[in-house]
Amino acid sequence: MLEEFKPTWMVKSIYSVSPEQLKAHGIRAVFSDLDNTLIAWNNPEGTPELHQWMAELEDAGIPLIVISNNSKERVAKAVETLKLPFMSRSLKPLSFGITRARKKLGLSKDEVVMVGDQLMTDMLAAHQAGVRSILVKPIIKTDKWTTKMNRFLEKYVWRSLHRHYPDLKWQEDLND
Ligand SMILES: [Mg+2]
Repeated sequence: MLEEFKPTWMVKSIYSVSPEQLKAHGIRAVFSDLDNTLIAWNNPEGTPELHQWMAELEDAGIPLIVISNNSKERVAKAVETLKLPFMSRSLKPLSFGITRARKKLGLSKDEVVMVGDQLMTDMLAAHQAGVRSILVKPIIKTDKWTTKMNRFLEKYVWRSLHRHYPDLKWQEDLND
């Protein structure tokens, strides 16, 4: 059970993961959570670093797709300025959204990676979908109330993860 929460990689910030690193690991598409992974709730336009990273991925031909549990209308509005493709009603921590997006691209499980800031939804969903995952630190500390509940549970999972996998640590990038 515990293994299902374990991220493949833990990277402080997704911006330090370059297209070259992704390609070196056979990754051809990046799936990502939106809230607190790509953008902060109080800055829906995203930071210059995010836009720079998005441009690098685009140049490298690696699609970035938002995997969200929100409705189509809400996600569409949230990604309006970022102009990213998305999968709504993904039912994280279940695998549906990730698998649907992956099949749409015609990619195998080892060719996509799921990025997110939450063990209870993003990392678990990646595991259910059989794809590798990157846990990132949340962009800002304050969460929406729905996330607060998950964060509470997350504390217990973290404690067990650290006990069972003492080598787990935050990396600078995928090669660290
Ligand atoms: Mg999030």
